[in-house]
Amino acid sequence: MVAQVVRDAEEYLRRVAGEVMAPYPQECVLCYVARMVEEHDCDSTLRWTTRFRELRSPLASGLEERMRSVGGFCDCEIFANGYGLAREHLVRDLDSDELEAPERLPPCAGVRQMDSTRPCGVWVRGGEPPLL
Ligand SMILES: [Zn+2]
Ligand SMILES: [Zn+2]
Repeated sequence: MVAQVVRDAEEYLRRVAGEVMAPYPQECVLCYVARMVEEHDCDSTLRWTTRFRELRSPLASGLEERMRSVGGFCDCEIFANGYGLAREHLVRDLDSDELEAPERLPPCAGVRQMDSTRPCGVWVRGGEPPLL
């Protein structure tokens, strides 16, 4: 009985959360996916990528395939294998003297068209180091 109540509550929360977990206006696909993975983790699928496509660009049916083609078989792998922050967004670690990802993601540089599935200028292919 208690378990059922908890399950119902969880289901409810998931639904409510789903409604607020939308991309910001002009937010690009990668800034959105990175933000979602940071806040809500990766579930080993491309669920945030798919969510972005469904909400913003339903006709861009090749989006997930494009992510897979750069090694992104789930949302976090996009950043492990496919894209990283452009150099100017990295910070230098004073101990190791190496560039690394900042603690907080830089703000999205924005996309001109709402239905664009291109990453904004914050991201580069194969950028270093892996962000997430
Ligand atoms: Zn993952
Ligand atoms: Zn962006």
